Amino acid sequence: MEETMIQTDKLSALGIMASSFAHEVNNPLATINVYAEDLIDRIQAGDEDLDEEEMEHYLRKIKENTERCKKITDNLLNFSRKNDWTEDHIRVREIIESSLSLVEHQLKKQRIQLELRVADELPMVSGDGLKLMQVIVNLINNAVDAMETEGSLVVSASANDGGQVSIKVTDSGHGIPADAMDKLFDPFFTTKPIGKGTGLGLSVCYGIIQQFGGTISIDSKPEEETTVEIQLPAERSVYAWRGVENSAGETGQS
Ligand code: ADP
Repeated sequence: MEETMIQTDKLSALGIMASSFAHEVNNPLATINVYAEDLIDRIQAGDEDLDEEEMEHYLRKIKENTERCKKITDNLLNFSRKNDWTEDHIRVREIIESSLSLVEHQLKKQRIQLELRVADELPMVSGDGLKLMQVIVNLINNAVDAMETEGSLVVSASANDGGQVSIKVTDSGHGIPADAMDKLFDPFFTTKPIGKGTGLGLSVCYGIIQQFGGTISIDSKPEEETTVEIQLPAERSVYAWRGVENSAGETGQS
């Protein structure tokens, strides 16, 4: 009985996903169609005003919208690739450092101050290390998008009394309006301009953290700051290396 209910839940979730997906992909596809048709018509009509610059404009629009479709399908694939999961013993510090190295360039470009606070002793966690990295990069990218330039980003990790490892990403960005808070994990909810956001980032993160058996929550002071916290079950009595408390991107380790 319970099994059937879970199955029904999954099917209705799939139905919602499928219709949102169709809606999201249909818009850029319709735009591609309009640009391609218009271009073909003008070529066939021998339109002499159609110069290279204008053709490039058409092709750029087609490319932008194709990229948008690709972003949406890539993100969606992450939902369906749930079986593609490796079970690693994860050193959280390593995963955070690898994630930061992927966004380092963007942080420098936007002159964002980074503070890294990783506790001396952290238990290991079990799960897919690359997927955890994907989550952290996603959260940092959202933080960076919210800050534009010269903000501050704090990434921290500590063990809590409840036997969990807590990872927090705090930014001094524009915060989140109260009326958006309960929509953040909905697939396709985005406040970013077209071509920039797909609204799938946080829902993908949510799915991954669930697979870890953990939780993800968001706290925000509008116009001031946002903190996203992930809590992951720790592997009992397995401690990663003893790290050194560090800051500003230094990755001390002893
Ligand atoms: P996307 O980044 O493609 O918009 P997400 O699911 O990752 O999709 O995020 C959904 C929305 O949540 C964002 O459009 C933004 O409005 C809000 N959001 C997420 N993280 C932050 C943050 N750190 N600061 C402010 N707003 C955020």
